[in-house]
Amino acid sequence: MSPWRVVGFLSLLGCAHVPEASPPRERSRAQARYTVTIYDNLGGARVRACLEGMTVNGLVPIYDGGGPALRGAWIGDDPLDTPDGRIRLREPARAACVDYETRFDSPLFRASDPAAVIVSQAQWLWRPDPFPRDLEASVRFELPMDAEVSLPWPRSDSTYFPERSAFYTSVYSVFGSFEHQSFSVMGTSVEVARLGLRPPADEIRRWLGGALQATASVGGRFPHDRVHFIIIPTPSQDKHVAFGMVRRGGGASVLLLPSPNATVGQLEADWVAVHELSHLWLPHLYPGDRWITEGIATYLQEVLRARCGLQSSERAWTRLQEGFERGRRAGTGRPLASESREMSRTGAYHRVYWAGAAFALAVDLRLRKESNGEMTLLRAIGDGQRLWGTDARLVDGSALLSALQEASGADFIQELAETYAASSDFPSTEYVRSPEYSEIRTQILSGADDACGLSAESWR
Ligand SMILES: [Zn+2]
Repeated sequence: MSPWRVVGFLSLLGCAHVPEASPPRERSRAQARYTVTIYDNLGGARVRACLEGMTVNGLVPIYDGGGPALRGAWIGDDPLDTPDGRIRLREPARAACVDYETRFDSPLFRASDPAAVIVSQAQWLWRPDPFPRDLEASVRFELPMDAEVSLPWPRSDSTYFPERSAFYTSVYSVFGSFEHQSFSVMGTSVEVARLGLRPPADEIRRWLGGALQATASVGGRFPHDRVHFIIIPTPSQDKHVAFGMVRRGGGASVLLLPSPNATVGQLEADWVAVHELSHLWLPHLYPGDRWITEGIATYLQEVLRARCGLQSSERAWTRLQEGFERGRRAGTGRPLASESREMSRTGAYHRVYWAGAAFALAVDLRLRKESNGEMTLLRAIGDGQRLWGTDARLVDGSALLSALQEASGADFIQELAETYAASSDFPSTEYVRSPEYSEIRTQILSGADDACGLSAESWR
């Protein structure tokens, strides 16, 4: 019963000592309206943040590292204190319009021809502090002449409506002159921002469309309604796609660096896009647990491409074997969990990714064996994804593992992961070659074009 009802009930009893209740006030919703003016040289932004319907002490960067981009903050002509990049109001306010200025000192990428820049939103978006439970936020851009913006956030015309995770988790924004492209693949809307001339639009559609369909085949649908791609053609001596990265702040975004010399066939056969998209089936884990998601994405990049005809099953099997050997030779000798925690510092990526892939293979083999082929790792991920959702928040590896157990009905996954996490030795993979597994191995890597939805009509 709400306090208003209690008061009303007592009033009916005619108790003279109960003060008369005033009717509940309509609570105004917390709103933050940002107007972001990008400088002509794409080197920074002047932002006006108008906040209302909440009591705020100020505005703070998305994460601590964002602070140095701040150059100053004002209300009207009055400068505000900005200790450590945090904007402090003189006193808490229910409504305020704050101006602040930031510089894009460390853009991820800057192209001069055509002129465009890629920066984390942490270099121009400061969030209200404290952050209200339900914030309606909108962001409108004022851009230099001929410049455009690209972000993975919902929008209507030129106004974006970022959700909560856009204020807590990094994502990349593109400003300047670049190519736009949008299409849809099996119900998922795809938006592409391409800096540079290659690959041309029809090849992008074929490459990314194929990768999306292969990745969607895990569960018959792609887990996100919208995916945003940033494509930066980048020459590479020996790779068709030099690098890829997923960001999740306010929406799913994949950055890819294809070689401008790669043919569309080479891009389609490459692993990077399928690997990055596979991450979007999985939650974002803490660094010490990341061997699990990197391992599953590494395993899926090979299995899904074989399943969907983007590479032969022989090649997939060889690549898995070669990957395990690379992983076995790499690393610092730490147990896998701490190898995973430290990998951005030590560079032990091969060790972490391929030990994780060996775990994914072991889980897939055992699920298939114990269920006579009824249950697979792909199916467990496709069903389990509903349990962990598409939230951008960092979660514990155990949440992912127990959801996989629940979805598959198996009880060994968590225990097996603990053994892998604690081991300093690269996991044994020799057993997979034994005749006992030959049939399951064929099942894992054989084509399943029906499941992939890859047909000449649908995507060529
Ligand atoms: Zn990865």
